[in-house]
Amino acid sequence: MYRTLRGLVLKVLYPFLMLVGAFFKGRKESFQRFVIGLNNRLVRREKPKTKKILLLLPHCLQINECTIRLTHNIYNCERCGRCEIRDLIGIAEENGLNLFVATGGTIARKIVMEARPEAIVAIACERDLSSGLVDTYPIPVLGVSNDRPFGPCFNTSVDLDKVKEAIRFFSAG
Ligand code: SF4
Repeated sequence: MYRTLRGLVLKVLYPFLMLVGAFFKGRKESFQRFVIGLNNRLVRREKPKTKKILLLLPHCLQINECTIRLTHNIYNCERCGRCEIRDLIGIAEENGLNLFVATGGTIARKIVMEARPEAIVAIACERDLSSGLVDTYPIPVLGVSNDRPFGPCFNTSVDLDKVKEAIRFFSAG
């Protein structure tokens, strides 16, 4: 039942709100945040349990001064600790998760198709997260919005405790 409700939220309510948001541009992000919150609550009610979790990151978590290419292999990271990519690799290793950086919706969809996860913890801005939830339905996804103290797509960060909690939610037996 919760999965069906989630489908209605993502396939009916979300496009409707985005249509309304086209006329009230200032409200669009709050609509997206609302849909992500609703999705997360419904996923938690569904209580899916699996160890086959994909952790999906946006490339803007990588600090701009770092020139290492992470898109095809995040393990190219030298773990210097100047950005949270190091910590996220550590979290993925501790929990045995698949971990990828997505540079956009198309790459994210390709990663999901190849990794075939049973659950996803996705970090992104509200815009990418909400559209990603729609694209990956019915896979249960817990979305964690990134923090953008320097503006969009630049040196963003994420609350690591929220990421760990989302992984625990899916994997705790
Ligand atoms: S932890 Fe260091 S090496 Fe890894 S992506 Fe961040 S800045 Fe680059």
